[in-house]
Amino acid sequence: MKDTFKHQGLRQKLVATLKAKGITDKKVLDAIGKIPRHLFMDSSFLDHAYQDKAFPIAADQTISQPYTVAFQTELMQVKSGDTVLEIGTGSGYQTAVLCLLGAKVFSIERQNELYKKTSKFLPKLGYRAKKLIFGDGYIGLESEAPFDSIIVTAGAPFVPKPLLSQLKIDGRLVIPVGDEVQVMTLFIRKGPKEFEKHEFGEFRFVPLLEDKN
Ligand code: SAH
Repeated sequence: MKDTFKHQGLRQKLVATLKAKGITDKKVLDAIGKIPRHLFMDSSFLDHAYQDKAFPIAADQTISQPYTVAFQTELMQVKSGDTVLEIGTGSGYQTAVLCLLGAKVFSIERQNELYKKTSKFLPKLGYRAKKLIFGDGYIGLESEAPFDSIIVTAGAPFVPKPLLSQLKIDGRLVIPVGDEVQVMTLFIRKGPKEFEKHEFGEFRFVPLLEDKN
């Protein structure tokens, strides 16, 4: 598990690429500049780790493209001490970004293989999520609600109601909605039943799956 000068240099280039693509949040850029993304990927992809691309991880899933991670995290507007929920732990890369921003992170993964792998791996790198959960993100995490923000890192065919109802007032849900292609969507809770909805560009994610098989 090495992080060399070469990796660090490539990471700074990646940060410059993300800036050029319109990411402005300094804390988000700093986090991406610090996290050794190459260690979150299979060794066969090590040389590509700092390209702005998604790559395969275990269980037919992907580690999201850095631009997508940055874009979604920027929309969450995480403050230190926030309680946040992530749906789709995957490699744990997005989880690590949220930990570095000072959030108390709860993250749910439905693939047992990934859940186990990432639960062991993240603490080794020093990223301590409050809790990683093996379960179904469609129902959110009522026991720890309400959340300052919720991020969904898989393509949702529809917006699961529990995720909206588990937001604090002024809380933010960032979710890519759609089947083949997803529209990045931000919901801000304005009252018990009032939500503001903002839509951004199109992205492509692996699907948010509804059953465990
Ligand atoms: N945040 C991850 C992205 C992984 S891809 C990263 O940075 O690596 C999306 C993840 O969502 C996959 O690991 C997939 O198994 C998971 N997923 C799909 N449907 C889910 C569901 N219903 N509940 C929880 N996780 C789910």
